[in-house]
Amino acid sequence: MDGIASCSNNAKVEVDGKHYCGIHDPKRLAEIRRKNQIRYDTEAKEREYKISAIQYCEKKGLTLEELKKEINS
Ligand SMILES: [Zn+2]
Repeated sequence: MDGIASCSNNAKVEVDGKHYCGIHDPKRLAEIRRKNQIRYDTEAKEREYKISAIQYCEKKGLTLEELKKEINS
């Protein structure tokens, strides 16, 4: 199914000869996917950082406060 065939909204954009409404606009959907991917990547990175911090503290027997001091020294 392409665009308008599966959708009852009025066509708003034309891409490669196919018509899409504002909701199913391929560019808009691609942009949403891109933003979701960025958010996912950011969250995955943050999770890695958190795990690394915990592992470092555990390995060195440091509290979070001690780790902060070590970073700032
Ligand atoms: Zn649509």
